[in-house]
Parts: sequence; structure tokens; C-alpha cells
Amino acid sequence: MISPQTIQQIVSRIDIIEILSDFIKLKKRGANYIGLCPFHNERTPSFTVSPTKEIYKCFGCGKTGNTIGFLMEHEKYSYVEALRWLANKYNIAVEEAEMSAEASQQKLLSESLFIINQFARDYFQETLHQTEEGQTIGLSYLKERGFNSNIIQTFQLGYCSNSTDAFAKKAKENQYNEDYLLQTGLVVHRNNALVDNYRGRIIFPIHNHTGKVIGFGARIIQKNDKAPKYINTPENELYNKSKTLYGIYFARQTIDKKNECLLVEGYTDVLALHQAGIENVVASGGTSLTLDQLRLIKKYTQNLTIIYDGDNAGIKAALRGVDMALEEGLYVKVVLIPDKEDPDSYLQKLGPSNFQTFIEKEKKDFVLFQLEVMLKEAGNDTQKRAQTVNQIAITLSHLNKAEDFTRQQDYIKACAELLHIDETGLTHLVNKYKRELLLKQNNILRQSPEQVKVDTVQLNEEDKTIDLLLREEIQEKGVIRCLLEYGLDSWAENQTVADYIFLELEHFPIETPLLEKIVQAYKILYDKGLQPNTKLLSYYPEKEISDEVMAIMTNPYELSQNWNKVMEGKNINNQDVRKNDIILSLSYFKLHKLKKMLKENQHDMQHAKNGEELQRCLAIHKSLKEIEQEITRTLGTVIIK
Ligand SMILES: [Zn+2]
Repeated sequence: MISPQTIQQIVSRIDIIEILSDFIKLKKRGANYIGLCPFHNERTPSFTVSPTKEIYKCFGCGKTGNTIGFLMEHEKYSYVEALRWLANKYNIAVEEAEMSAEASQQKLLSESLFIINQFARDYFQETLHQTEEGQTIGLSYLKERGFNSNIIQTFQLGYCSNSTDAFAKKAKENQYNEDYLLQTGLVVHRNNALVDNYRGRIIFPIHNHTGKVIGFGARIIQKNDKAPKYINTPENELYNKSKTLYGIYFARQTIDKKNECLLVEGYTDVLALHQAGIENVVASGGTSLTLDQLRLIKKYTQNLTIIYDGDNAGIKAALRGVDMALEEGLYVKVVLIPDKEDPDSYLQKLGPSNFQTFIEKEKKDFVLFQLEVMLKEAGNDTQKRAQTVNQIAITLSHLNKAEDFTRQQDYIKACAELLHIDETGLTHLVNKYKRELLLKQNNILRQSPEQVKVDTVQLNEEDKTIDLLLREEIQEKGVIRCLLEYGLDSWAENQTVADYIFLELEHFPIETPLLEKIVQAYKILYDKGLQPNTKLLSYYPEKEISDEVMAIMTNPYELSQNWNKVMEGKNINNQDVRKNDIILSLSYFKLHKLKKMLKENQHDMQHAKNGEELQRCLAIHKSLKEIEQEITRTLGTVIIK
């Protein structure tokens, strides 16, 4: 947590050319600088940096961002790490933000858990290597499974002895807090005493992407039908299973370099592949992929290859993540290990180099693979085949970003062929689900079931609603652009543009959730007496906010359409440009809201239950119309003669 004051100080010092020149060679060309892109291989420079806009864009691979974005992408820093790096470079003292009591409590807790985990990792490693029990039971088991000392050291494997409370005692001796110890899951309460939870098990420390131990997996050695094969750290302040990928810390650099991430199920699969020199591998820990895990992978690469045992459970688990993966823009492939083997055993059977060839050769596109599995299951059952068509259309509807268009087209073509159906028909179906998805995302379907029926039956109406929603967002962005660009300027005596816009927003609120967040972020900084201009907000800690601010500011044309329309051919004084821009943006924004309110009111009018209700609707209609006229009048006079 860095204070907003310090962030502003850092941001005001940032010189994008100076910072990026630390990492790449830049040459001036016109107003911009160009160089060889560090994110993809190229011979002629297409990496362009604009010192005025303070952003970079690569015309080869499309990567774009600001200085902090560059440090995060290139150095894999977190936002805060990037800020600290910059503060250090510019000799700015970092002032920590005052944390709420709750937040500092949380920080204390997670730091304590870290310390205990570190202690436990060292203790279990020592037990494995230095005690007789560790060597004869733990180490010999690992050697038997084919793991060499190097891999055992790298992954910091350990052993928990069979005695009741050896670790618990040692931890108490070292004054570790009992409550924290219980939260790590390393010990449990039994008959009023602390006992070790992982007795007689091999310990796999689980690292986060910066290399800190956040939890453990403990594997049983002796065959025991009563005990689970693995025990994992319970969810706590540090360890969140759905956000964790085993091995990410050791794999991240190779994933980056190879631009591909391999995913397996088990911890030992990760170890085996590493030992064979295949280092870009992580494990999901046997659950189906979560959104957070996909996003963690996407930090390093868009190419995910899932390696699974041929058994049905594994495939089913993997299939559940595919829609999410598509929506996140990942390219997912799948490889099935045959003959009831797992990656570890199959690798030993084939040897490293044959195994790698096998992976390369057997990689299948995940969507087409999913379709094949479903078709096989459906057989000649017409109803099941129809369900398959629907399912695949739903999957493809998740490819709904503009840049995914050709990808979707290719898929539709390939799937239609496999299904022996008409391509246009499938396209229609995909589009239908796309619309439904869009509506869902815009929260239209959240109302009563009755309402849902109306919305889905009237397809044409649906299209209009989407159109209206999108246009509304554009108008809202127009207002935010003005806030960002002119907010700190004076509007009237003792009133800034921001004051004025906030006043207007009290009556006509911003409704798009992300845009509303930007307004709130602006307001908080503004109320603190800071200067929330475009630059400061484009460095905002929450990535979705900074990204959106960047998008609004780098794409102002779309947002000032109204403005351009009105200004066409008019010869006006430059000083009035700003004022007119603000009035126009606000007016169009308000007109839009009014139209929506009028429409809603009309709906109420038609469904009025009694005369009284009808009267009220009519009164509302009248006053809305009056405001509408007033705004239209303003629009008429805003153009300077
Ligand atoms: Zn590039």
C-alpha cells in the first residue's frame, strides 16, 4: 500500500522515454520514438513510443501500455513493485498509505503465516535430508520414483516424520502463535494438544509466482486406504486454491520464453517434466481450471496446452474451463496420455525426447476436441446431437471480442463441417447466444422471470436494446473524457469543471459499472486535494480502471463524434472549444438518459393500474419533456455564431 500522494509524486516524474530506454534502444522519429519490440522477435522496429501521450504501442504484436504497464509486462513486476522501482530510480521516499485497522490486521496475519510456512519448509527439508527416518523412508521413496537430488532441492521437498508432534513441539519452542499455526494447517488440535497433521508424508511446498511459500501439499507414502493420498493447506489468508498453480514460480521464465504453458494435474507430474528438461509446466492440483488460474497463465502466455490422463474424470474437469479460457482470449490445446498412464509414468516409458515429440504431435485444438468427445457420446441419438450443436454454439459465443472475429469464423467453419450442418445456421445460433451473453453482462436478464421472457422472445427489440446500451456507454464515456481532460480547470467562480460535472451526475448517474468506478476513483483523489488528471488515473492501481482510462484517452474520436458533427465547417474561437465540448458532451449524455427515462415512464403508463398512477406518469412525462426541451435549446445555442 503506497499513499496516493507518493503515487502522484512518482507519476509526475515519469518520463516514458527515459524509463523505456533502460531496457530497449529507442530512436527518435518525428514526434515519436521507435525501437525493436521486446515482446516479439522482429528485425525492423515497429515498437513506437509517444512521449506526449506517454504510451507505447507495438504495431507488430499489438502490445500497448504506459510506463508502469511496461515494467509490469517486461519485468513481470506487480503494480506496487513497479511503483517502488520507479520511486527508487527517482529517489522518492515512499510513504505508506495508512491502512485501516482491518487491513493491517490482515497484513499482520498473512506475514505471520509466511514466516511459519518458511520455518516449516526448512524444518521438513532438514527432516528429509538429515534424519534417519527422513532418509530411509522419505528420500528413498523419492529416489524410487526417479527424482534426482537436484529436482528435490529445487522444489524444496521435505518430509514430516511419523511421530505425533515433532513439528508442533519445535514450532512451540520457537514461540510461534498457536492460532496462526492452526491456520496454516500444519498442526491440528487433538485431545487438547497440538499434533502434526502431515505425519509420515512427503511435503511439497507450494510457491506463489514470486517464490514465497504460501502452502503445502502432503503426499502419503505407505499405502493406506483410510487416509487421503494428498492433504493440502486449508484456505487461509495466504493460500487460495483457486488462485494457485503449483510450480508457477519455477516455470514462469520458460513459459515466457517458449510462449506456451503446459498444464498437468499432479505435483509429481510437474517434477518429472522439469527433470526431463520441460520446464514450462504447472499443475492445477486436480480441480477444474478457475478464472483466476487462467488469468495467472495469461500474464505469461496466451497458449495453454493441457496434458491429461485419458480417463474420463480428467477430461470432464478440463472441459469445464474451456468457455472461460476462450473468453479470456487463450488458445487452448489438449493432449491425452494413452494407456491409463499419467504424464509422469508415460514420460519414463518414452524418454524425454520422444515424450516431447509426442506432445507436439498429439496436441489438439480444445474446441474441436470437445466437439469430438460430445459427438462420440451422442452417437446416433438425434436429441443428443442437437444438444451438441447448441453446446458448441454456446462455447463459440464466448469468443466475443472484436479481435476474436476471424478465430470464431474459422471455428464455425470447422465445427459445421464436423457436425455436417450448414455454416450459416451455426453462425446464426452463435450470434443468438452472443446476444444473450451481452444482455446478461449488461444485467438485463437479472429482473423477474416474466421480464426475462419478454426480453428473449422479442428478438428485434433485443437488438435495439443492445444498441441503446452501447450508445449510452459512449455518451457516458464522453462525460468521463471531459472530467479527465478538463476536470481541474475552472468552470465558474469558485467552481471547477469537476465540481460542475459531479453536480450534474447527481441527477443523471453514470450507470455502466466500470465507468462509475472511474468516477468514484476520480472523486476520492479529487476530495483528497490531489490532481486526478488523465495521467494519474492511467496509473491507477486497479488495472481495469487504468486500462479503461487509457482506452478512453487513446480513442477520443469515437467519443467526440457529437462534437465533430456540430463543429463541422464552423469557425470558432479556440477558447470556447473546451466549454462547448463539455456542454455538448453533458447535453448528449443527459438527452440519452432522458430518452431512456421517457421510455420507462411510457411503459409504466401503459401498465398503470388506476387513474392515480396514470396521473403521476403523465406528470412525470411532462416534466421530463420540459427538461428535454431545455437541453435541446442549449444544444441549439451552444454553437457560437
Ligand atoms: Zn511487438
